[in-house]
Amino acid sequence: MCPNISSQAMSSEDKDWSSEFFPLVSPPRKDENYGTYCFAFRDRKLLLLKDMGNFRLPSLEEAENMGLDILRKQYLGELRDISCFSMELDGPDDGNMDGQDGSSFVGLRELSGILDDPFISLAGKAVHIMEWDRNTLFCGRCGASTELKDNERAKGCPECGFTAFPKISPAIIVLIEKEDRLLLARSPHFPAGRYSIIAGFVEPGESIEQAVVREVMEEVGISVRNVRYFGSQPWPYPDSLMLGFTAEHSEGEIRIDGVEIEDAGWYTKDEIPNIPGTESISGQLIHHFINKHS
Ligand SMILES: [Zn+2]
Repeated sequence: MCPNISSQAMSSEDKDWSSEFFPLVSPPRKDENYGTYCFAFRDRKLLLLKDMGNFRLPSLEEAENMGLDILRKQYLGELRDISCFSMELDGPDDGNMDGQDGSSFVGLRELSGILDDPFISLAGKAVHIMEWDRNTLFCGRCGASTELKDNERAKGCPECGFTAFPKISPAIIVLIEKEDRLLLARSPHFPAGRYSIIAGFVEPGESIEQAVVREVMEEVGISVRNVRYFGSQPWPYPDSLMLGFTAEHSEGEIRIDGVEIEDAGWYTKDEIPNIPGTESISGQLIHHFINKHS
């Protein structure tokens, strides 16, 4: 039986940038001096230029004239009438933050404090579209070269008619409460000392509510009730959409498999260890719990 579900508005103070960005698949016709932003990536690190000590995105023209090895570029849409492009660059990742000509390649997770939203959010969209383009150069069904469609974000196969849309992998993440404590768990893949809440991918044929119940049972061996929607967040590592929930412990003692989860326990707000920051929905959910019990 599925738990009842209801939605709950996120308590994010972020300005909703999405109303300022219009996703499009074909660039509009403009004169030569129109403004552009270019999200150029090398090994998933974003190219930024340094002006007067501050980082900024290059224009498309600047990125094309830096002597970089450009593999492909993609049109994303319009941000306040400025055309946005993503670009895939070849070459080794030398990890430089202060390269020649004031240019730097910065990891997606390091953009906070360097760029403002909407540029951080658009960087996630850009890397997602860029990787989808790279992964669908050939038809997954017959192997022929694909062609970009001009009326939707999709690629068609001229040989067999197969259509490839951008792959988005839904995953659930759930804050589980038991009276004044929350469940935190540690994956062996986390940085040293880091704990977070339970998360996992939705399986084919499964509702997101079923995924919450299954993942919690698989990872920590307990059942939950009162599952409520919290909010969602695109998570381009590499192509997820995180669907956040809150839930209450129903039955069972914590039982971990020792493989996906190496430690888990119940924590009061004063006992919370090293957790993700509030730029991620996991951090937002944990702070939702802390605020509720403060
Ligand atoms: Zn085909």
